[in-house]
Amino acid sequence: MSAEPADPMDTLRLLAAGLVLQHQACARGAILDARDDRGRTLTPKLLLRAQARLSRLQIASGNLARADSLHQLVVDCTRPLGDWAPDALLDGHEDLAELVLIDPGVRSPTPECVSLGQEGQNLADLKENLWFDKLRETLRAVPLAQSRADAYTRLRRFIVAHPAATQAELDSLIRELDALTLLPLLGPLVHEMYPPLAGGSEGPVARCGHCGSLVETGDPPHCTSARCREEHPDVHLRDWVDPAQLRVLRGELVLYWVNPGRDELRLYQALKEHRDDVTLYPNQDEVDLGLGGEREIGLDLKDYASMPTLARRFQRELGDLAFYRRGIVVVTDRGTRVRGEARRDQLREKFAELRIPLEVMTVHDVLSTFGRPA
Ligand SMILES: [Zn+2]
Repeated sequence: MSAEPADPMDTLRLLAAGLVLQHQACARGAILDARDDRGRTLTPKLLLRAQARLSRLQIASGNLARADSLHQLVVDCTRPLGDWAPDALLDGHEDLAELVLIDPGVRSPTPECVSLGQEGQNLADLKENLWFDKLRETLRAVPLAQSRADAYTRLRRFIVAHPAATQAELDSLIRELDALTLLPLLGPLVHEMYPPLAGGSEGPVARCGHCGSLVETGDPPHCTSARCREEHPDVHLRDWVDPAQLRVLRGELVLYWVNPGRDELRLYQALKEHRDDVTLYPNQDEVDLGLGGEREIGLDLKDYASMPTLARRFQRELGDLAFYRRGIVVVTDRGTRVRGEARRDQLREKFAELRIPLEVMTVHDVLSTFGRPA
């Protein structure tokens, strides 16, 4: 066996990049572990290299069988690294034990996974979210900046409330957007974001009354959004929909826009009760919330599970928060308020260590600091 001197962190980045590429291939219709007509593997090379390295680490730690199967590896990645990764992988990086690379609910790489994949320059051309770019690009045809901003915010708000939407709801959204942009512009993009429900379903399907996701009507019935189940253990149905009329938001948009979006909207509404200088997604989403005058205070909500990964993302690039006089990263609780505070403290510590010039607050900190008239 050739001893490729593999830095564990490097292996992790390789794995993350491989998973993102595999997900993109699956989104184009490929299946995991597919072969071409000459029997050659179509699995992304990065994923195979990551698997080989992991396999060596497993063998070195005496666990012979674990990493032989690509399917097993992908299933493993839906659980925290600490549960399955060989010890050597987390050696010196114990703070990554809670990291999950694939979201088990929407079966899409998590934001942390994409972020790690980019670190190793393995995914240099992958934008953290290509949908932002597509939307901004499409809106460029609208001459009036205010109309662009209004259409942008309207679409984002609709998406947060509709992880699954009926054709009629989409039609009415598109009419509204066309009226804002004065051009029939966003229809094709909206349909691209909402492909039809895959796989035939017998009879009507249910949507969740809390978040609008599909409800799995097994016994007991449960919302398909893991984040929603965390917040609302009880099931509550919004309505029943004919599956032929149903379209479902793409998984990556659920992770990037819907999950953090619920907190963004809640915080926006809470602040709005106390002050009128708060803007949602100012300048087409430079930041999530703007407060005060032009580029005075910028708030970005982050729902990452892993604070070290989030810190490294800002180390790589400060992003548009850097344009604001005060740039504040707001971490979600992901559970209790105490948990949120622990996450805040961990991120503050990392920011200090990496000399990242941004503030960190919890949602509650923001409300107690800014939730009164300016
Ligand atoms: Zn729900």
